[in-house]
Amino acid sequence: MSKRAPSRYDAIILGAGGAGLMCALTAGQRGRTILLIDHAREAGKKILISGGGRCNFTNLHTSPERFLSANPHFAKSALGRFRPEDFIALVERHHIAWHEKTLGQLFCDGSARQIVAMLRDECAKGHVELRLGCGVSELEHADGMYSVRCGDDVATAPALVIATGGPSIPKMGATGFAYDLARKFGLSVVEPRPGLVPLTLGKDEALFQSLSGISTDVIARCGNVAFREAALFTHKGLSGPAILQISSYWEQGREVGIDFLASLGPDWLVEEKRRHPRSSLRSVLAHALPARLSEALAERIGLGGELANCPDRTLGEAQRRLSDWRFRPNGTEGFAKAEVTVGGISTDELSSQTMQAKNVNRLFAIGEAVDVTGWLGGYNFQWAWASGWAAAQAL
Ligand SMILES: Cc1cc2nc3c(=O)[nH]c(=O)nc-3n(C[C@H](O)[C@H](O)[C@H](O)COP(=O)(O)OP(=O)(O)OC[C@H]3O[C@@H](n4cnc5c(N)ncnc54)[C@H](O)[C@@H]3O)c2cc1C
Repeated sequence: MSKRAPSRYDAIILGAGGAGLMCALTAGQRGRTILLIDHAREAGKKILISGGGRCNFTNLHTSPERFLSANPHFAKSALGRFRPEDFIALVERHHIAWHEKTLGQLFCDGSARQIVAMLRDECAKGHVELRLGCGVSELEHADGMYSVRCGDDVATAPALVIATGGPSIPKMGATGFAYDLARKFGLSVVEPRPGLVPLTLGKDEALFQSLSGISTDVIARCGNVAFREAALFTHKGLSGPAILQISSYWEQGREVGIDFLASLGPDWLVEEKRRHPRSSLRSVLAHALPARLSEALAERIGLGGELANCPDRTLGEAQRRLSDWRFRPNGTEGFAKAEVTVGGISTDELSSQTMQAKNVNRLFAIGEAVDVTGWLGGYNFQWAWASGWAAAQAL
């Protein structure tokens, strides 16, 4: 380690994303001396690009069931103690205008920059020392003290918080550093995989690939999980909110089912036959779905001619197929395109009250680094705020 005298803090937080900033500002305002370190030159880079630049900073419908984790109960404590209304109160104190877009998703009216500026301002109020562009080259734990080396400087503290996120979008500086650190301290890691990510299809799924650019309202299902939102056909496979949501639950080899007739009753096709006996399947589908999609689906189902000539049973089967169109993705677009990482530092290793490691003194892990992953729609930031806040109460 360096020959320079180390600077001493109450806690060192690694990673100035949403979780690290919230943890730092809360602990700082509780009177703790905090050093917040990030290797990026800017704090909160993912906040800046989130929600199309407007940051979907929370969700009014936050509840533990909307998070994936090997332990579905783990997130309850933190989410219950720091709630969406707590973050909204902070946003309002900073006079940041916001609106609900859909499904409880809250966005800034202006820019995500306002959220980062707010968090930095709150950090300043808590006298947090923020060191950016600073990679950790050495980290030691001895005699109850953590020593972190950044360049020529060494900082020490009796508490260390891992807030370096997951490896999604590596080109923004995201790394698996949290897992390396966790393993260094003997904590287990639930195998990370990309979440909220487009699904890809093999060559045999030519139907979907020919529809690139089309978006339609569907119910996407995987196992017993279902999401009703838009799906978007892409040249590689499928994307759009319904698919991103389901992707977090999908694992290699599993089937996905799409209900293209989400808003129609179970006997819709038979009823259409009664109403419009001279119509074709393709033309009635075109009333419910984009034209190119209805054409492609009708062709695949292979029911030509007038509906009047199709037995009700055949139409019932066609409707069932259209309501549960099965396909097997061959993969995802990977961490390069994933909004989040599913998996991470095992919740078995941490206290759900404080986010502190059970077997390593004063080591904490928060945010996306931990095996807690939210749905699309502001849930992941709410977890970052809540877990950061919970850890700060124990610093
Ligand atoms: C394109 C995109 C859009 C998103 N939109 C939304 C949204 O609108 N709403 C929502 O709720 N969620 C959204 N998310 C997810 C959300 O951004 C993350 O879940 C959240 O940022 C996680 O916060 P975190 O602080 O745990 O990790 P991060 O925000 O990833 O922060 C980790 C920090 O650690 C730093 N770091 C990494 N490795 C090191 C290292 N070795 N040394 C030092 N520092 C390091 C990184 O530079 C980074 O600043 C989006 C994600 C993406 C990629």
